[in-house]
Amino acid sequence: MSNTDFVLAVEDLTVSFDGFKAIDALNLYVDKGELRVIIGPNGAGKTTLLDLICGRTAASAGSIKFKNVEMTRLAEYKRVRSGIGRKFQTPSIYENLSVFQNLEVSFPRGRGVFGALAFKCDQEVRDQVQSVANEIGLGELLDMEAGLLSHGQKQWLEIGMLLMQDPELLMLDEPIAGMSARERELTADLLKRICKNRSMIVIEHDMAFVAQIAHKVTVMHQGKILAEGSMEKVQQDPKVIDVYLGH
Ligand code: ADP
Ligand code: MG
Repeated sequence: MSNTDFVLAVEDLTVSFDGFKAIDALNLYVDKGELRVIIGPNGAGKTTLLDLICGRTAASAGSIKFKNVEMTRLAEYKRVRSGIGRKFQTPSIYENLSVFQNLEVSFPRGRGVFGALAFKCDQEVRDQVQSVANEIGLGELLDMEAGLLSHGQKQWLEIGMLLMQDPELLMLDEPIAGMSARERELTADLLKRICKNRSMIVIEHDMAFVAQIAHKVTVMHQGKILAEGSMEKVQQDPKVIDVYLGH
């Protein structure tokens, strides 16, 4: 295949679990600087698609190229190093550490919590922590124990931990689940800001939120793409109304 300008090119991607195709010959192309939202009914395969892209699940067939480099058989940590960041549905922060320490341990030099804490906290790390903390709205809370943050703030902290690695592709699975209306608004602003320097794939159900952030929307159903395009276009698509929006 020839080189492309896409940051991510997924082609004929398939994964079978005991003969059931959770992802079925799927193609997906994401541009540099694009914020793509993936929607679709429960069980459509959205989370599985992110699992395949980040390397948590191995593909049965097909190809995943990131910046024109074949990733399909690469280990998860190597994909992280090449610039793919992934946030799972439940936040995985260190509740007993401060906001500062959570961000510090995510700095790429230190991998794993103990290794990272052994590093001397030099100015470069401190500057990066402060800048990410400001970005996620926690700049004034660096010394707070992460366990004491609100649910929304914990989600932002985890996004911040990913930003410490400065990924070129950031993938978020249902980032606003359980958030208050105000936290949702702030998250929309945050995602719009951070996609200026990178590409993003966001899985989300809240259509008002999707309308605020999406450059393009991909609708998944039964492991395949049902529709793709602008929010207006997919919202008016009878197939999409039938399997998803009508319910
Ligand atoms: P979504 O995120 O769109 O709700 P998922 O990707 O979680 O959907 O799941 C898609 C389908 O794949 C579901 O039917 C789910 O039960 C199945 N599935 C996901 N992971 C596995 C697995 N590890 N083993 C077997 N089946 C799985
Ligand atoms: Mg899911």
